[in-house]
Amino acid sequence: MIPITVVDVADAEPYVLEVLRSGVIAQGPMVKRFEDAFAEVAGVEHAVGVNSGTTALVASIEVLDLQPGDEVITSPFTFVATLNAILEAGASVRFADIRDDDFAIDPDAVAAALSPRTKVLMPVHLYGQMADMTRLMPLAAEHGLAVVEDSAQAVGATLDGKPAGSYGLGCFSLYATKNITTAEGGVITTNDAALADRLRVLRNQGMRARYQYEMAGHNYRLTDLHAAVGIPQLEKLPRITEARQRNAEALSKGLAGLPGLELPAVLPGRTHVWHQYTVRITEDAPISREEFSAKLTEKGVGNGIYYPKVVFDYDCYRDNPKITAALEDVPVATRVAREVLSLPVHPKLTDSDVDTIVETIREVLGA
Ligand SMILES: *Cc1c(COP(=O)(O)O)cnc(C)c1O
Repeated sequence: MIPITVVDVADAEPYVLEVLRSGVIAQGPMVKRFEDAFAEVAGVEHAVGVNSGTTALVASIEVLDLQPGDEVITSPFTFVATLNAILEAGASVRFADIRDDDFAIDPDAVAAALSPRTKVLMPVHLYGQMADMTRLMPLAAEHGLAVVEDSAQAVGATLDGKPAGSYGLGCFSLYATKNITTAEGGVITTNDAALADRLRVLRNQGMRARYQYEMAGHNYRLTDLHAAVGIPQLEKLPRITEARQRNAEALSKGLAGLPGLELPAVLPGRTHVWHQYTVRITEDAPISREEFSAKLTEKGVGNGIYYPKVVFDYDCYRDNPKITAALEDVPVATRVAREVLSLPVHPKLTDSDVDTIVETIREVLGA
């Protein structure tokens, strides 16, 4: 079986041992070291480590001091954490449809979804390619919106040479299967020193100094043990990204021209870090997306569907007064959710694995 993801953290052993031997195992110097290295990679002044990508999103919304009824506009085609974080932060949420080339929020749809209560724009840089920030940033500025980038899948991605997480408040996930990992963890990036300071206080029970509480905070702290896992990950990020890019290129070359198979595009001005290599099985394909997925699995090619439904289309979100959403307002996301399928693109793939993936798909599609 060629797996869809491989976790490769064995090289963290000396760093983890260093932490274990030091006795400082919760938030300490290793977190600081990780944050400084992350800030450099993300091209920002400040990086604040937290315990997940989800809490990175919650904290980023919370420091914006929204009022009850204030709205966040985000993508309907994302991991559920994006929506859960907005609700956890107490904000209301509205969805703007996506484009079918970058799978990210469509600036025209954002303009149409704006309401007087809209205060935050939260694009999701899906699969490792950034949303169209060139058009989204001026739109946000014109309407006085704060920008929180869900960069969970996009560490190292750029648009016009500027990295994900350097446009607004950047929220990254360090979960086990993300491009770099600390097992569980997250990071918030910003160039705003005052926001970074508030985020540091918020993640630690709202505490500035011992028993000096400034706000009702959380325990969102990252630990030195987790940070230690991430240090070598950050060091090898350029190699991780290059390997993913090389694999994606080889897949696109091998899979070109098959009927019913739409390949992922890298849009002008953007670099793609290929968290996922996601194809679309369209109506022109000889078999359904579900049959295609089952046949690949049967033949030993791991695959995944990210995501099978629009994020709000579950019973647990229906009738939630904080959610304004209708499937008919997001036709592109609805269609794309029926068509997408992600293939292995991780750095541990060999040339022969890539050949196997290509041959298997050509065979399954009868080409
Ligand atoms: C992984 C992910 C998150 C959440 O990150 P966790 O570290 O799992 O909490 C949020 N948004 C997107 C798009 C993700 O892929």
